[in-house]
Amino acid sequence: MGLELVADRSCGECTACCVNLKIETEAFKKSADVPCQHLCSAGCGIYETRPPVCRSWYCGWRYMGQLGLAMRPDHSGILLRVQDGPAIVFQPTGGLEALLAMPAMELLGSLVSSDIATYISMPGKPGHTNVMLHLNPALAAPVQARDLVRVAKAIVSALEFGSRTPTDPL
Ligand code: SF4
Ligand code: SF4
Repeated sequence: MGLELVADRSCGECTACCVNLKIETEAFKKSADVPCQHLCSAGCGIYETRPPVCRSWYCGWRYMGQLGLAMRPDHSGILLRVQDGPAIVFQPTGGLEALLAMPAMELLGSLVSSDIATYISMPGKPGHTNVMLHLNPALAAPVQARDLVRVAKAIVSALEFGSRTPTDPL
C-alpha cells in the first residue's frame, strides 16, 4: 500500500478527523472526540491558515483506493489511521458495532490476509487511554478459512478482551 492520496477523492461532508482525533503538536492541540474549536458548519473555519498537522494528515480512506464511499469515516463510523509499518488502526467513532458491518470486516480480512498489521483503538473508561488491540493473531485462521462468522466472533472476542483490559489515566 503506497502512501499516495487517491486521485480525485475529497473529504466531502466528512469532518471525522476534526472531531475524533487527538492532536498534540506544538502549534496546535485538541482533545479526542470533541469538535475542534475551528470547526463550523462549512468545515474548517480557518482553512487557509489551518495548522501544519491539518495540512498533512489524512485518514486511510483518502489513501486506499479500494475503499468505497461506505468506508468514508462519516458513513462507516470508523476512522482509519495509517501508521508506519505499515499498520492500520481502526478507530470506531460511531460505536463498536461498526466493526461488524460488512465493508469493515472485508477490509479487516483483506489487510490481515496481506499480512498488514491491523489494530482496533478501543475507548478506555472515561479519563483513561485507549486500548490497542492487535487483531492479526486472532483473525489469521478465520480469514484464511474465509469464514465470516468466525471472523465476526474473533472481533467480538477481541472487543470483550479489550473491555476487560486496564488502561492508564490520561
Ligand atoms: S476523516 Fe478522512 S475523509 Fe474525513 S475529513 Fe478527515 S481526512 Fe477527510
Ligand atoms: S483547525 Fe481546521 S482542519 Fe484542523 S482540526 Fe480544526 S477544523 Fe479540522
